Amino acid sequence: MTQVLTGDAGHKPTSSWLDVARWRGKLFYGEWVPARSTIAVREPATGESLGEVGESQPEDLKSVVARAQAAQGGWATKSAEERAALFRHAASIFAANRKELIDVIIRETGGLRGKAEMEVQNSIEELLHSAALLVHPEGHILPSRDPGRLSLARRVPLGIVGVIAPWNVPLLLAMRSVAPAIALGNAVILKPDPQTPIAGGVALARAFEEAGLPSGVFNVVNGGAAVGEALVEAKGVRMITFTGSTAVGRRVGELAGKNLKRVALELGGKSPFIVLDDADLEAAASAGAWGSYLHQGQVCMASGRHIVLRKVAAEYVDILTRKATVLPVGDPFRQNVAIGPLINAKQLARVDRIVKETVAAGARLMTGGTHEGPFYRATVLHEVRPGMPAYDLEIFGPVAPVIVAEDEEDAIRIANDTEYGLSGAVQTSSLERGLRVARRIRAGLVHINDQTIGDYAEIPFGGMGASGNGSRFGSLTNWEEFTEWQWMTVGGQPVRYPF
Ligand code: NAD
Repeated sequence: MTQVLTGDAGHKPTSSWLDVARWRGKLFYGEWVPARSTIAVREPATGESLGEVGESQPEDLKSVVARAQAAQGGWATKSAEERAALFRHAASIFAANRKELIDVIIRETGGLRGKAEMEVQNSIEELLHSAALLVHPEGHILPSRDPGRLSLARRVPLGIVGVIAPWNVPLLLAMRSVAPAIALGNAVILKPDPQTPIAGGVALARAFEEAGLPSGVFNVVNGGAAVGEALVEAKGVRMITFTGSTAVGRRVGELAGKNLKRVALELGGKSPFIVLDDADLEAAASAGAWGSYLHQGQVCMASGRHIVLRKVAAEYVDILTRKATVLPVGDPFRQNVAIGPLINAKQLARVDRIVKETVAAGARLMTGGTHEGPFYRATVLHEVRPGMPAYDLEIFGPVAPVIVAEDEEDAIRIANDTEYGLSGAVQTSSLERGLRVARRIRAGLVHINDQTIGDYAEIPFGGMGASGNGSRFGSLTNWEEFTEWQWMTVGGQPVRYPF
């Protein structure tokens, strides 16, 4: 176990990269400043303290915005290569401190080591892709009405971008907005979830600080809804990117609209995982188990509904149940397990209530449905039907609801019988059938012969329906998200007018 995050009184400061002595009780407003109050960070698996970060006050936003404004202009005028070099440097800092980052993600989120490794790697890739964005052309030369004048359209930074991120994948879901926004010349104010401010805030601040980003270009405010709303409403913040629940996303969208701000919303999901009757059932159940149980199901793209054709439903459920039953549950930092803790008591109670009410409404509990402390067992619910909570609600727990479909057409109908549209998958041995079905799933991400979870820096990531508002993150789409067009004309001689 590392000492790095032991925030208890007896902790001896170390010289490690994320050493609690560097950030305890402080806030990163372009530099580390003392805070008036603190937020305690605890390991969900054990309740052990990981330290206390500084807490922001909503009224801090005014001065943080002023710092960001003062820094942004100078940053945006640095050459593309200078900005790109800084991002490559930040990526190497993350790579050099990979082990510490992985440990903090496991401890702060309760996620598995493999998930934390992926999160760090993908965050490094986000930094490198953001550097690579800067080799792309920044605009177009337009046809000119006046041969003596040059007419061009160029992409300019928005100014200050506010980023609000969730706790489940705290480093990556912050980084996928923070890195491209800054690389493209903006300043950023990040608000991580108050349950994960170390991986979701401190780690980014440390990397950018060490990479030499000018003070004020990146800032972190810590707090919950009040600080989040203050960020959305702050004068001078031109855009908000929000990743989180659909309920809070609606509120953020409303406030952003009222304040005439651009807003990118990446929200919840209830993603369909369709198993056709010609699928390799062993492979399908393995993928389905991964899609529903990875990170205890606390993933926006989790396979939220297993829609299985009647002909193979019994056999599929048998295999899935067998797999779910043997998944070891426990503390992923100290034990080798497949299922860690749920993030908090409220979420645990919610998952349990959804399972119990779904069973009371007539679904069959095949395995799981119980917990010890924060550790909820992998659960399979069979014969789930419309109107049951597990059919309609995003669960965010290790629960696989199985819904029986009569045929391919019925499976597609059920897949789209949701307000969400984040991801979808179809399992079949026929590529033709797979394409036929996948094309009709209304979702931003669709996979044939895979499960529903997947995100990389180079793909356009985003959801349809209540899973978002049409924004897409990733690679070239980041130019659309984090800059705006400016039309410019240039002539060597003044234009003469009749007045
Ligand atoms: P949440 O909506 O409760 O919180 C997300 C963030 O919003 C946190 O930083 C929180 O402090 C902040 N917040 C809360 N109230 C706010 C307000 N009124 N104004 C401004 N900010 C506010 O979500 P969560 O429970 O942390 O995360 C789980 C949800 O996020 C799930 O629904 C999941 O599907 C979704 N999610 C979506 C994606 C995606 O890319 N589409 C990725 C991960 C998670």
